[in-house]
Amino acid sequence: METYPIPMVPGPVRVPEEIRQVYLKDYGSGDLEPEFLELYNRTEANLQKILKTQNRVAIMTGEGMLALWGALKSSLKPGDRVLSIATGVFGYGIADMARSLGAQVKTVGLPYDETIRDWEEIDQAILAFQPKMITVVHCETPSGTLNPLEELGRLKKKHGAPLLYVDAVSSVAGTPVEVDAWGIDLLLGGSQKALSTPPSISFVAVSERAWEVIREVGYIGYDALQPFLTAQRDFYFPYTPYWHGVAALHTATELVLREGLEAVFARHDQVARFCRQRLQEIGYELFPVTRAVSSPTVTAVKVPPFITWDTLDRRTRQHGLVVGGSYGPLAGKVFRLGHMGSQADMDLMTRALDVLEKIFRR
Ligand code: PLP
Repeated sequence: METYPIPMVPGPVRVPEEIRQVYLKDYGSGDLEPEFLELYNRTEANLQKILKTQNRVAIMTGEGMLALWGALKSSLKPGDRVLSIATGVFGYGIADMARSLGAQVKTVGLPYDETIRDWEEIDQAILAFQPKMITVVHCETPSGTLNPLEELGRLKKKHGAPLLYVDAVSSVAGTPVEVDAWGIDLLLGGSQKALSTPPSISFVAVSERAWEVIREVGYIGYDALQPFLTAQRDFYFPYTPYWHGVAALHTATELVLREGLEAVFARHDQVARFCRQRLQEIGYELFPVTRAVSSPTVTAVKVPPFITWDTLDRRTRQHGLVVGGSYGPLAGKVFRLGHMGSQADMDLMTRALDVLEKIFRR
């Protein structure tokens, strides 16, 4: 099987050595040994610091989609109103997911190369639709954009506090995510992006209000959040906990906190700016040009007219570089460079851009 020394797919990213070491250890059984509970509690406390929240954080076995589905199923009943703000693949996808659960969904949609700007439109939509839940994606990984969210928290409070559901899978630990200040009730994160851990663990920071709704809805299922309300108190998890996965996430959060949140965010910003500037100097055209906020964790680039995506993908791999394609309407038209977690590294990014320059110069 091929391996690539310059791995720039926007998740899963390269796992740093200190995190890899965790998988080589032998642990006991997570549902029996108090050490696991201590580890889980310490990991939760670290996530609370990274997410700037007092809310409890449920740490589940499974990758990001588990958190997205589990939080929707745990807090919606058929007929509930959901206002989905959609600016990309995941935003529109979450609207479809809520619809599939029988919710009445209204979408405030924008093209994939835009991010939220018109707060008046959203204000009016909340007023007119009176949703039980508002859904939004912080970083749209397939298009490299970042929705500003602070204002949404203010609007939410103004309109009787519907639940605010935020997919921050590809922004957590790469750029500030302020759960309490932004009034986020269900904050969804995953292990495989800026936390640089294999795709194995997801987490949901749940507000008091969201726990109330979760209790009312009473959803039972493999992805249910409700058991996590009492799992620590009773030391009774809904399935055998994935000790190695939680240990890896714990190490990942320690690495972030040891470096310092501000330093981590500055490193992401620096690499993102360097990436976008040099791509343009080479002659590549970035995907979201003017009407969007670019994400500090991922950059989307137009596939240049002289090459197809398949050829570009083959040629980068020949040079040891692997980048991400895109999905939906952007498939074949856009490719992506991740600069999240272990990828937010100037040397690694320089090597990736050197390859892309060679391909551009033909
Ligand atoms: N949400 C966003 C914004 C993502 O980018 C992804 C994965 O790329 C997911 C959710 C789903 O995460 P996972 O692939 O870990 O299930």
